[in-house]
Amino acid sequence: MDVRLLEATEDPERLICQAARNDYMEEYVGDTPFEEVMASVEGDTLAGRKETLIGHLLAHGHFGPFEHPHATFAIEGVSRSCMAQITRHRHASFDVQSMRYVEFDEEDPEPGDVYVHIPELDEAHIAGRNAEIADEYKGESDEELLDRRRERYHESIEDSFDAYNELLDLGVAPENARMVLPIGTKVNMVVSLNARMLMHVADIRSAADAQWEVREMTNQILELAGEWCPLTFEYYNEEMKGRKNRLAP
Ligand SMILES: Cc1cc2nc3c(=O)[nH]c(=O)nc-3n(C[C@H](O)[C@H](O)[C@H](O)COP(=O)(O)OP(=O)(O)OC[C@H]3O[C@@H](n4cnc5c(N)ncnc54)[C@H](O)[C@@H]3O)c2cc1C
Repeated sequence: MDVRLLEATEDPERLICQAARNDYMEEYVGDTPFEEVMASVEGDTLAGRKETLIGHLLAHGHFGPFEHPHATFAIEGVSRSCMAQITRHRHASFDVQSMRYVEFDEEDPEPGDVYVHIPELDEAHIAGRNAEIADEYKGESDEELLDRRRERYHESIEDSFDAYNELLDLGVAPENARMVLPIGTKVNMVVSLNARMLMHVADIRSAADAQWEVREMTNQILELAGEWCPLTFEYYNEEMKGRKNRLAP
C-alpha cells in the first residue's frame, strides 16, 4: 500500500481562520488583511493566534470552517474490500481503477502484485473479534498453522486468477470475467475530501474496531494531513482521536 498527497489547498489554516472569523466580524473578510482579521484573537504572534483559534473551533465543535480546505490523495494497492469501506463516505470524491480496462493477464502473478497479503499469514495468534481456531487445528504448531493458512489463501486466489484468464481466453468480456476475482484483488484510487470529512473518516476508520487495512490506509492519510494542515491535525491527534463520530453542530 502506498498513500501520497497529490494536491491540497495552499495554506489551509489561513483559510479556516478567515472562514471562522467571517462569522464574527463586522468588516468584510474579502478585503481585510489577514493580520487584521486575526487581531482580536488571543496570542503574541500570528502563528499563535491561528493556533488559538483552531484549537477553540475544534474544542467547541465549530467544524464548518474545516470544510473549506480540500486535499486529494493517491492510494495504491488496497483490496476491493478496503475500497468498498472507504467509498461509503458520501462527502468524499473518488476515482477507482476500473477492472474493465485493467487486465490481470500475467501467467503467474506474484501474490503481492495483484492481491493483498493479510496479517494472519505471518502471525498465528492475532487477537481478532471473529477469529477462532477450530478444534481440529488447535494441536498444531504455529508454523504448521501458518503454512496451512498460506497454502489455502494463495491457492484459492491463484485458482480465481486462472479462471479469470481462462474466461478471457474463452471470449468473456473483462467486466464479466472479473466476477470470479477475489475481493482481495488490488486496486488504485484517488480520493478528495475536506479537512472536516478527513477527521470524520479518521474517527471511524482509524479506530481500533476498524479492519487493519482501512485503518492502515487512514493512518497514512492522517500522517500526510498532519504535514498539510499541522495545527488542526495536531489538535485532532492529541485531543480528539478516539472520539466517536462527533460531527455536529
Ligand atoms: C466497524 C464498522 C463496521 C461496519 N459494518 C457495516 C455493515 O456491516 N454494513 C454496512 O452497510 N455498513 C457498515 N459499515 C459502514 C457504516 O455503517 C457507514 O455507512 C460508513 O462508515 C459511512 O459513515 P457515515 O454513516 O458516518 O457516513 P458519511 O457518508 O461518512 O457521512 C458523514 C456524516 O454525514 C451525515 N450523513 C450523511 N448522509 C446522510 C444521510 N443520508 N442522512 C442523514 N445523515 C447523513 C451523518 O452524520 C454521517 O455520519 C461499517 C462501518 C464500520 C466502521
